[in-house]
Amino acid sequence: TTFGQFGFHSDIARAIAETGYSTPTPIQAQSIPVVIAGRDVMGAAQTGTGKTAAFTLPILQRLMPLASHSTSPARHPVRALILTPTRELADQVAESVRRYSKFTPLRSAVVFGGVDIRPQKEALRQGCEILIATPGRLLDHVEQRNVDLGQVGIFVLDEADRMLDMGFLPDLERIIQLLPRQRQNLLFSATFSNEIRKLARSFISHPVEIEV
Ligand code: AMP
Repeated sequence: TTFGQFGFHSDIARAIAETGYSTPTPIQAQSIPVVIAGRDVMGAAQTGTGKTAAFTLPILQRLMPLASHSTSPARHPVRALILTPTRELADQVAESVRRYSKFTPLRSAVVFGGVDIRPQKEALRQGCEILIATPGRLLDHVEQRNVDLGQVGIFVLDEADRMLDMGFLPDLERIIQLLPRQRQNLLFSATFSNEIRKLARSFISHPVEIEV
């Protein structure tokens, strides 16, 4: 498999070339075509397997037709929401999203707890198609009406097992209720316990299961 086979938009292909990746990792080879096709995914993968690019690159591809060059924040609604359990992971994912989207008109923002909320509010006010967030801080922004999730068409739950371990289930349930019913769902977890399967069944119907 090569990255060329996926038919990425040239703005995305250029970013991949710049990172110097030559071959997709196993999870990328399996997940990229399935996500581009719009299917739901349950992926079993640890960090270090290339899982971030496995969901980020096809999400960018799906969002390209919706990208706007307008400077108006209203033309940059949140269309992909990526939830992570920790600020460190949120930061890492955000860095990857920035790297892979740098030649596209797509905007991204990251929000997590433990830091001043005001700069995040300002970033959200500018508009962003891709929002990376930890659950508690996202709900703070929702309550303050800093962000509208009514146009989210792609929802990613990264490291779902750690989310549950950290007690985020009630927050996750609240967030999922705020999303449009019609959307693509991607769930990644290092392990698939009964608890994770139960969570997955609560919001994903016929996922493609990927294991590496
Ligand atoms: P992740 O599992 O997403 O945290 O990625 C682990 C590391 O692998 C990161 O440093 C990526 O930059 C790198 N990486 C991801 N995809 C590839 C690839 N196809 N070829 C080489 N390195 C990659």
